[in-house]
Order: sequence, then structure tokens, then C-alpha cells
Amino acid sequence: MPELPEVEVVRKDLERDVVGKRVKEVDVRLPRIIRRHAAKKEFTSRLIGRKISKVDRRGKYILLSLDSGDVLVMHLGMSGHVERTTGRKALEKHTHAIIKFQVGGELRFVDMRQFGELFVTGGDEIAGVKELQHIAIDPLEDSFTWQHFSESLASRRTKLKALLMDQKFISGLGNIYSDEILWASGLRHDRASDTLSAQEVRRLYRAMQEVLQEGVRFRGVTLEDETYKDLYGKTGEMQDHLKVYGREGQPCRRCRTPIERARWSNRSTYYCPQCQV
Ligand SMILES: [Zn+2]
Repeated sequence: MPELPEVEVVRKDLERDVVGKRVKEVDVRLPRIIRRHAAKKEFTSRLIGRKISKVDRRGKYILLSLDSGDVLVMHLGMSGHVERTTGRKALEKHTHAIIKFQVGGELRFVDMRQFGELFVTGGDEIAGVKELQHIAIDPLEDSFTWQHFSESLASRRTKLKALLMDQKFISGLGNIYSDEILWASGLRHDRASDTLSAQEVRRLYRAMQEVLQEGVRFRGVTLEDETYKDLYGKTGEMQDHLKVYGREGQPCRRCRTPIERARWSNRSTYYCPQCQV
């Protein structure tokens, strides 16, 4: 599932590649992907003829502002990706929507599991979108300060991994990056969040920024299922730089102790039993 760094890679690519482009045609091949709209036309008519003026992100939602004042909202769900291509390329399986530009190719929204979605809303209505109201602190934003983090951490009492994955606390962290952040900060997944020293809080805060920025720099994690790709159809490289996730039995990159795997709700968590306390 795309986590915060993967969504940020897509946002940056879109910002570089589609800002200034005007929409010529929109082809919705699977109505479920625009499920907030009662009819296709209600969606397509707000896009056709409009120019994309900027690309922002709120949590894992990508917001493409249009020159009409409307915003095209994009969410990749569990398995979605966006492909920037020419109209000549054969359609990939599970291509559910195509946005064609007047000049310069098209965007294709591809999503095998169909949890992703697209919708258009008014720029002044965006604050009223239910899913966007709960977007919590964003470690990739400048407004994510040490002080803010420390205060929100102190107000919770839960296991660290659960806290990192709580979308109401921090947006966009999933199973992979939460394990990596905890390893980088030397803290265990089951450590109680209200037992951290000031130094540990600081380490966690710094690890969060460093790991996520590294994720963006290596253009995200693509696991074996290969559902995550960037705008140009390329897989990420961050999977080759993971320190604990998926490395059960392999030596810790810091202390050589074999990495362990524990059950975490119905998934797994990976950690070093030696250098995470
Ligand atoms: Zn270790």
C-alpha cells in the first residue's frame, strides 16, 4: 500500500509534469473509481477545458487545483498508481480513468483493488470533505515541529507502533515505514509511548523525518506485488534500503543481531531485539 513517501513522489512528479496542462477529454472506464459522483458527466464536465494550476497533498490525498477554482482529488487506495504516458501506449490492465491533455499525452489511473478514487470538489468545499478533516500531523511538512510532536506524543498512552500507524496522530504511515522509523530511533514497537525520555522523543522525531525523506529520495517502496509505480511506470528503490522490514533472520545493519518478526494485529512487525529498547 502506498504510504506517505510514495504519495509524495507522485505529487512531486505531477507538479513537475502536469501543471499548466489543459484537459481535453476524460474517459471514466469504471464508475466505482469516481463513486462520489452520481453521474460520469458530473465528474468529466468539471475537468474538460480546465487547466491544472498546482498540485498539493494533504496526508495521502493529492489535490490538483484547476483554473476554475475546483480541485481534482486523487487517492491511491491500497494498490493505485498514476501513469503519465502518450495515447499510443497500450492500456495497462485495471486502467479505470484516463485524463487526456490538449497537448502532451495523458494521465491514467490504474488500480487493481479499486480502493483508490478520484473526485472533483469546489476549492471552498475542500475543508468540508470528511476524510480531509481528520488529516493529522504530516512529518514531511515544515509545520511538523519538534514541539508539536512532543506535545501530541505526551497526550497519548499507547504502544509506539500503534501510535505511528494511527492516522489521527500522524498521517500516511503504514506497516513498512513505521518499522523503519522505530529501528532508526532505537525504539521497540511495543514500547509505551508515555515512557519515552525527552532524548528518545527527539530521536523518534528526527528518525521520522529522515526515514520519510529517504523514502522520497529513493522514490518509494515497491514490494514484490509491484503495485506501486511512479508516474513514468518505474518501481521505487527504497525496498533495497530497508533496514528491518521484511528482513527476518538477516543481520541488523547496526549490530549484526538477527532481525526478528513479531505478530502485530494480523500483520507482522520487524525489529532488532538488541538495539531497539
Ligand atoms: Zn541491531
